[in-house]
Amino acid sequence: MANRFTHILRAPHQVSFDITNKCNLRCLHCFNSSGENDVVKNELSDEEVLSFIRSLVPMQLYNVCFCGGETLIRKDLLCKCIKELKPSGTHCSMVTNGILATDETIMELEQSGLDAIQFSLDGMEAAHDKLRNKTGVYTSVMRAIHFVINNTNLHLSIAFTPTNFNLDDFEIVYEELAQIWKNSKRVKTGDYIELRLQPLMLLGRAKNNLGIVPTDDQYRRLVQLIREREAYRYSKSIDVKWGDPIDHLIRFKDNNNFLDQAIVHANGDIVVSAYLPIVVGNINKHSLSDYWNHGLNDIWSKRVIQYLVSRMQSIHDMEELTDTIADINMDNGLSFDLMECDLDDLNLIKEVLLS
Ligand code: SF4
Repeated sequence: MANRFTHILRAPHQVSFDITNKCNLRCLHCFNSSGENDVVKNELSDEEVLSFIRSLVPMQLYNVCFCGGETLIRKDLLCKCIKELKPSGTHCSMVTNGILATDETIMELEQSGLDAIQFSLDGMEAAHDKLRNKTGVYTSVMRAIHFVINNTNLHLSIAFTPTNFNLDDFEIVYEELAQIWKNSKRVKTGDYIELRLQPLMLLGRAKNNLGIVPTDDQYRRLVQLIREREAYRYSKSIDVKWGDPIDHLIRFKDNNNFLDQAIVHANGDIVVSAYLPIVVGNINKHSLSDYWNHGLNDIWSKRVIQYLVSRMQSIHDMEELTDTIADINMDNGLSFDLMECDLDDLNLIKEVLLS
């Protein structure tokens, strides 16, 4: 049954857009196999990206997040996109591994109107470079973090991916960030660093590197450490956030929530969740606004989506589902078009079952 609040929103609050799925790294855990998946063969052109971004302006979104892949591989395009969005008041954020985040690039992004930036930092040098599969990455990202804190007003987020070899580094990273912040002018601004963690998703390249997955005991210890830090986060100006995508998927399915964000891949595909290989449209076929008003705003109530999400209770189910269907960003994933088919059609579930 459709959610009765669905039509309150005439547009999503947020759009997450993979501006590219190319990457200058091959991280051991990369959930969408950036750099090596089927999307990189078929990315939107610069003109298609700008046209898509311009189509978002009238929707007056709260936030557009530029994700990837490595976003700075398309830095010039990224700056153009931000400049298109800013006059409408849209908050712009981005994620990056930091390698290409030189001082000049960071300044150019801020001058274009960027509001927030997220770097990945998975521990101290040995652990970070091991997970990122390349030496020198830690040095680059730490230099960029220092620069952002000391020379910009950008809101800063740090994503820390837990593995079985970096949990002891979590406290050190926390203290190190707190120290850099404390010694900067930013400490008086009321701003803070978001330190984000989530379980390591058993998707993409992580499925080929299962030896790095934390044990249950390690996860329990990590959650304890996070709780301890949550208690005094405001005095330290660091807000630790634990987010579990499986938890979100289950709650969205069970509560029949309306969707407040849309996720668009680098080839224009619209997906239900970054962690499910289910495509429900493409922005080169119809506008995001048309998809929104044609069922994307109520996607969690659709029987096909309900059925697929009901198969997931843990990250291991996610691994199994992508084993039987396809991995994220691979051509043979499930693909529907909301404008052309009825996701409430029970026959479609039979087809999915047989696929
Ligand atoms: S995790 Fe990020 S930096 Fe690493 S390969 Fe994937 S997209 Fe690139």
